[in-house]
Amino acid sequence: MKERINNIKERIEKAAVECGRKPEDVTLVAVSKTIAARKIKEAFDCGCNIFGENYIQEAGKKIKELADIPISWHFIGHLQSNKAKYAVKLFDLIHSVDSVKLAKALNKEAAKINKVQNILIQVNISGEVTKSGTEADEAESIIKEISKFENVSIRGLMTMPPFFDNSEKVAPYFNGLYRLSKNIEKLDIKNVSMKRLSMGMTQDFEMAIKYGSTLVRIGTAIFGARNV
Ligand SMILES: *Cc1c(COP(=O)(O)O)cnc(C)c1O
Repeated sequence: MKERINNIKERIEKAAVECGRKPEDVTLVAVSKTIAARKIKEAFDCGCNIFGENYIQEAGKKIKELADIPISWHFIGHLQSNKAKYAVKLFDLIHSVDSVKLAKALNKEAAKINKVQNILIQVNISGEVTKSGTEADEAESIIKEISKFENVSIRGLMTMPPFFDNSEKVAPYFNGLYRLSKNIEKLDIKNVSMKRLSMGMTQDFEMAIKYGSTLVRIGTAIFGARNV
């Protein structure tokens, strides 16, 4: 595990340097869905301190088990509004907010615990019907709406491009999210930051870094293939 993690960190650093970016501007989120708590602890001991989870119930159990370790937990899966109450208690950053309705629920629950919940807006940049995320041309209006909520804070955008075995093919989608974030940044919406871009997974994180990713979400390359 140590070797895998060091290898990933080196690749992140190299990809950043190659395109003139600072390695420390790219953060590794170790994706630990379906991975047991003891494996997460092992990855923590090997230098990972941010973990991404997809399912509230599963994450809740593991977060409880690992409560005495200083891990920052991110939520990266599809979130239903009726789970907002749990999400605000468990996660430092929620990558996958794709509707005003969900943001409103998070705002309400975050207010109850006196928290400002950091979120990213998930954008369906490819427009595939099977993908979650707000449509690219709706992102601006949704962000303006959500920016009015006092207990959520938009920090940037996230996307899941279509799957290709060739990372060249995902480049246009990464570029699309990058350009969208720049366009939204120009609007200078109050309480909205576009500093973070969550894109890139095991298959394509180097390409994502080239297009400005600041959060790469990597599971398989750290923990091996998931058997579900
Ligand atoms: C599972 C998952 C990942 C990690 O994918 P790998 O290919 O295992 O690196 C990243 N992002 C999201 C949203 C995921 O669900």
